[in-house]
Amino acid sequence: MVGQNLHEQLDDLYREVILDHFRSPRHTAPLTEADVTAEGFNPLCGDEIVLQLKLQGEKIANISIHGRGCSISQASGSILTELLYGKTLTDGTQLITLIKEMMHGTPSQDIEQFGDLEALAGVKKFPVRIKCALLAWTTLEEGLKEHSRKKGPIHTKTEVTTND
Ligand code: ZN
Repeated sequence: MVGQNLHEQLDDLYREVILDHFRSPRHTAPLTEADVTAEGFNPLCGDEIVLQLKLQGEKIANISIHGRGCSISQASGSILTELLYGKTLTDGTQLITLIKEMMHGTPSQDIEQFGDLEALAGVKKFPVRIKCALLAWTTLEEGLKEHSRKKGPIHTKTEVTTND
């Protein structure tokens, strides 16, 4: 029942936002010099992404995402780059927490202030697609953890197998 019907079951406004990001993803140009390169896979759906960050201290000076997979996974990644371009690593960590709260229950902050992030809230009605929506964020989380452990450029690979 999920599959092709997902788009029909999402609220119209959310569906339009997700399809817009899927068809015209933001920040897709690969970075030649990245401090964080984080690859993510969702084997259940076949989604793949490569997320890159160029940092200036704590600031995300540039960001890139490219990949292939379902509309939810790719739109979620595009939304991530739009929200975090020019922001800080702390902003990134806070957004990861917020989207997980949103997918599993009630977010602790008003999500309307975070642009198109709200469009992903509709996905939580479809538990098998939550991994798709969280893929980019879980991948970012692993990349940031590795970055905080090591100096110099890091490269992580994450396989998303649970909805956590
Ligand atoms: Zn997917």
